[in-house]
Amino acid sequence: MAKTVAVLGTGIMGSGMARNLVEAGFDVTVWNRSPEKAKPLGDVGAKVAENPEAAVVEADFVITMLFDEDAVSEVMQRALSAMRTEAVWIQSATVGVDAVVRLAAKANQAGIAYVDAPVLGTRQPAEEGTLTVLAGCPTELRPAVEPVFDAVGARTVWVGEKPGDGQRLKLVVNSWVLSIVGATAQAVDFARSQGLDPAVFFETIAGGGTDCAYAQLKGKAMIAGEFPPAFPLEGAAKDASLISDAMQAVGTSPVLMEALRVSFEAAADAGHAEEDMAAVVTAFHV
Ligand code: NAP
Repeated sequence: MAKTVAVLGTGIMGSGMARNLVEAGFDVTVWNRSPEKAKPLGDVGAKVAENPEAAVVEADFVITMLFDEDAVSEVMQRALSAMRTEAVWIQSATVGVDAVVRLAAKANQAGIAYVDAPVLGTRQPAEEGTLTVLAGCPTELRPAVEPVFDAVGARTVWVGEKPGDGQRLKLVVNSWVLSIVGATAQAVDFARSQGLDPAVFFETIAGGGTDCAYAQLKGKAMIAGEFPPAFPLEGAAKDASLISDAMQAVGTSPVLMEALRVSFEAAADAGHAEEDMAAVVTAFHV
């Protein structure tokens, strides 16, 4: 019999993940706070639930792909007591390391197994099922969750056994991603402000040692001033704050991440929160 997966949160990432789970043969139920984002998944074979409790009641696996810890916590407060005790909660939102301790404690209290599984990749990899899953997962649960990870991702990195190990690596990777985007925005505005065509900057670095596919991609959006969201800027601001806190806690200087956080927050406050994080370029012109 097909295993049953509930996906709570069908935003940019959750929608793509749910579609790929259906394609892989899972019996999928979805729920989203704004029902219009869950409804289209009904057309591809998922069941659409009216509330989180109804979504999880028969599930073998419950995936949370919500915005942040508060959203995950609120939704799971309702869902945990409705879950079967043999079900596994796969927490994939980027919530940071401290949040995992709190969320895993809630799961433990409810007698539910918790797997920390943030993902790398954005809208397109989520739609194509080519995410990288960063798993903080007890060894004995690996065989059970592996088919779920294989359905949404091209690769799973088994980071460690402790809840939080996946989030630790996710924050390191996002510190890199946000730095590339911030540095690209800075170069675009610096070129433009000196009367240069920023496209010439990208042509100049193309193919050399300092070239970077991600900078080229985000640079195109910055030059065009078009920001359809792959990773919404409000998410980048949230992650910059999580990364900065985590750096301070372990003794890594957050000076660069703090500058990025301020820039992402300024762009979000200026009305770009729901646009792609490339819109941070708007915060670089003073
Ligand atoms: P998104 O499209 O903005 O979706 C956010 C989801 O969270 C929506 O389903 C939203 O519901 C829900 N939500 C927010 N606050 C809520 C609350 N208080 N109660 C219930 N639901 C709430 O974001 P996304 O890009 O899919 O990101 C989801 C998670 O994946 C985030 O943790 C993000 O950092 C992480 N992530 C994103 C990317 C990326 O490139 N996009 C990559 C890796 C990881 P509504 O539709 O009702 O607003």
